[in-house]
Amino acid sequence: MIVALCLTLFMGEGLLNNTMYSVDDCLFCNIIKRTIPADIIYETDEIIAFNDINPEAPHHLLIIPKNHIATINNLDAKNSFIMGSMFEAAVYLAKKFGVTESGYRVVMNCNADAGQTVFHIHLHFLAGRNLTWPPG
Ligand code: 5GP
Ligand code: ZN
Repeated sequence: MIVALCLTLFMGEGLLNNTMYSVDDCLFCNIIKRTIPADIIYETDEIIAFNDINPEAPHHLLIIPKNHIATINNLDAKNSFIMGSMFEAAVYLAKKFGVTESGYRVVMNCNADAGQTVFHIHLHFLAGRNLTWPPG
C-alpha cells in the first residue's frame, strides 16, 4: 500500500491505472468472480462475454479473458492464444445475434489515446446498426 502510494506521488496515477493496480481492484476480474453483477451472455473456460453497461449499439458486448491482462501491450508468446479464443467468441455471438452476414465490429482500445478506461483487456463486440467509419 505504501509502495503504491509512493508510486502514485512520484510517477503519476497513469501507471497505477494500468499494469500495476491490484487484480482485486479490477472491475472485470470482479465481474468474472461474480462479486460485481453483469449480464453474462456467454462463457467458456477461458473467456466471458457480457453486455456493456453503456451500449453504443443494439448488441454491445465485452469479451474478456478470465486471466487478468491489463492492456494489449501485456500480450506475449505465453498468453496471446487468448486472442484467438476472444475472436472465436465474437464469431459465436455474431451467429447468435444473426449478424454474421449483415456485419458487426470488434474493437480493442489500448491506453489513453484510444480511450481505454478499464485496464483488463476486452474486445468490444458491436452489432445491430450501421456502424460509421472512421471512429471518433
Ligand atoms: P474501454 O473504454 O476501456 O475500451 O471500454 C470499457 C467499457 O466498459 C465501456 O464501454 C463501458 O461502458 C464498460 N463498462 C464500464 N463499467 C462497466 C460495468 O460496471 N459493467 C459493464 N457491464 N460494463 C462496464
Ligand atoms: Zn482484471
